[in-house]
Amino acid sequence: MFKASIKTTLIDLSGTLHIEDSPIFGAVEALEKLRKYTNVRFVTNTTKESINKLHGRLLKCGFKIEKDEIFTSLSSARKLIESEKLRPFLILDDDAMEDFEGIETSNPNAVVIGLAPKKFNNETMNKAFRLIKDQNAQLIAIHKGRYYQKNDGLHLGPGAYVTGLEYSTGIQAKVVGKPNRMFFEMALSSLKSENNSFENTVMIGDDVNDDVIGAIENGLNAILVKTGKYREGDEIKIPIDNRNVVKSFVEAVELIVNHVKQ
Ligand SMILES: [Mg+2]
Repeated sequence: MFKASIKTTLIDLSGTLHIEDSPIFGAVEALEKLRKYTNVRFVTNTTKESINKLHGRLLKCGFKIEKDEIFTSLSSARKLIESEKLRPFLILDDDAMEDFEGIETSNPNAVVIGLAPKKFNNETMNKAFRLIKDQNAQLIAIHKGRYYQKNDGLHLGPGAYVTGLEYSTGIQAKVVGKPNRMFFEMALSSLKSENNSFENTVMIGDDVNDDVIGAIENGLNAILVKTGKYREGDEIKIPIDNRNVVKSFVEAVELIVNHVKQ
């Protein structure tokens, strides 16, 4: 089931703990229980919201979560922009812009693209295309999620647009969110306690590609929940030796707690 005794749990947010403003049934209590057994960190590829907005939403759902326990692919993108002194053309939702305050954006030498449905139009995409093709700007994807779940059904993710830019420019995007190894490392390195190796860590998520297979390929353990964007048959993609599939976050916590108790 798991490679080693579990010390840390990484938890996806949207589709795993909540869907929009509603918590997954029983998840608030299950999270409290899990905290008694393992460290927890929250890792999200959400690109539509700044950490402040996301944190506010989680509190509204009833979760007791500290802001510094949350790691978003936006914070990881900002780190990269700062360390490589990039001036990005940001294709991000207005609600996410807060996390990029103070970043120089004139005369761009990078295109940073996240989930921004209102900006996925020909004018913006063509500007991005020209920056990459004509001016050698780097292409940075917050993540390449194929699709995501909202209350009214599935929606097209940024992966479709990132892949389109890759196709037309011949340039491969640098991906900063899950399943990038550095993103998982960033979340673990914030824990003060010792023995936080990948094999002592389990990732819980509803995205079979970026959460589950991504974690397994980096050497973590993983549990797929059948909520959010989960669709029947997703579990078949997971290597059989590492396949842990449960109904929801509540059952994922039971699986971990029972394993830790043994
Ligand atoms: Mg999710």
